[in-house]
Amino acid sequence: MDKILNKIGLNLDEETKLTNDSTFRFGCHKGLACYNKCCGDLDIFLTPYDVLRMKNSLGLSSAEFISEYTEPVIHNESKLPFLKLKLGESGSCRFVTDEGCFTYEDRPLACRYYPVGFGIYKNDAAVGSDFYFLIKEEHCKGFEQEREWTVAEWRKTQDIDVYDDKNKVWMDIILNKKMYSPDLEPDEKSLKMFFMGSYDLDAFRSFVFESRFLEIFDVDDEEQALLKNDEVELMQFAHKWLQYALFRKPTMNLRDA
Ligand code: SF4
Ligand code: SF4
Repeated sequence: MDKILNKIGLNLDEETKLTNDSTFRFGCHKGLACYNKCCGDLDIFLTPYDVLRMKNSLGLSSAEFISEYTEPVIHNESKLPFLKLKLGESGSCRFVTDEGCFTYEDRPLACRYYPVGFGIYKNDAAVGSDFYFLIKEEHCKGFEQEREWTVAEWRKTQDIDVYDDKNKVWMDIILNKKMYSPDLEPDEKSLKMFFMGSYDLDAFRSFVFESRFLEIFDVDDEEQALLKNDEVELMQFAHKWLQYALFRKPTMNLRDA
């Protein structure tokens, strides 16, 4: 059984697992008795692209967003520092309003997937055959609605492919087997690099353009201009750099000594 499912305490049998073609009935709209009930008392883990989208929608720097709206979570197995949304004192998400999600256009990936959850096999034989499951909470009236979806249709309507594409290299990093080796405890420097390269885009920009970074790595003028002007490119460049820094993958060009 894959570790991700074990980690979040689920024990799914094969019938419960869904594929892209599996169907389910679901509808969510204002007026349902449960409206907004799902936006509290929960852990919403953030991906790098979530942080980028949300900090920009709020007009904040990455450091401001991280400090105001998130809290760190240290992953038991890998010891990696991840971020989750900080809830309000009432236990509700701070973005929930009577009209729904204040940041709906830029809501995190986990909120887009809901009520679908996804799992990733980590045993070699099944890598690549990820699967889905339904998160059925008692209060949720959405499953009583008529509209039928395939998982693929749900993913499309929630723009999940866009998020998966932007986060792809980062997902490869956090699922890299080396991160889960009991013999390989990451040092303080690696953990700081991981955090900056994952979440603190403004700090990473300063690191690239205001340190010796460009004396060490060969980044041509065209790419430098792209990194200065396009935050998504900068985020994906940070993930390539993490692959080099953490696993020595040949994702970066070194300048000649
Ligand atoms: S970000 Fe929006 S959709 Fe997600 S829990 Fe908060 S209010 Fe709900
Ligand atoms: S139908 Fe489910 S997802 Fe929609 S508001 Fe109600 S509890 Fe939340």
